[in-house]
Amino acid sequence: MDIKTYIDEIPDFPKPGIVFKDFSPLLRSPKAWSYVISKFSEIAKELNPDVVVGIESRGFIVGSSLATASGLGFVPVRKPGKLPGTVFGVEYELEYGLDRLEVSKNAFQENQRVLLVDDLLATGGTANATINLMKNCNVEIVGIAFIIELTALNGRKNINTKVPIKSIVSYS
Ligand code: AMP
Repeated sequence: MDIKTYIDEIPDFPKPGIVFKDFSPLLRSPKAWSYVISKFSEIAKELNPDVVVGIESRGFIVGSSLATASGLGFVPVRKPGKLPGTVFGVEYELEYGLDRLEVSKNAFQENQRVLLVDDLLATGGTANATINLMKNCNVEIVGIAFIIELTALNGRKNINTKVPIKSIVSYS
């Protein structure tokens, strides 16, 4: 299946110069979304995680679908102030300024195998921040998976890990 036909490209969103990749049409098509999740399930089968970690917010959509399809747990990594209770947090640099990601301190059991997922890999900054966040959690990251990879931005090279980095479709 050519899933690019289900990914809209919106120029100059959310700001000038960015071509936003919108995967909403994939979600509207049960057939196309099942295909995407079947591809993620193959990745999960290969890497054998205990738990899927999804990055706010589109990573929640991919990650929870995958977790349900593969019989795995799901843990959300959230923007600041969204999670109740005590959290681990990590700050990371955006093009302008800082952002922060958080995860519940009690989200994991020791040494759980974690598969990180998000909708899209651009520069790799968000993935790197999540890897750093996971260092607090006594877990083993077994892989990172995206629907879409923007290869021109070299995210794959910038991600600071030796684990497999997978994507379903790439744009140069
Ligand atoms: P990065 O940290 O640069 O790898 O950016 C990845 C994050 O930003 C993901 O959570 C994406 O949802 C979002 N993102 C970055 N660039 C785009 C784009 N061109 N279209 C849609 N989402 C994007």
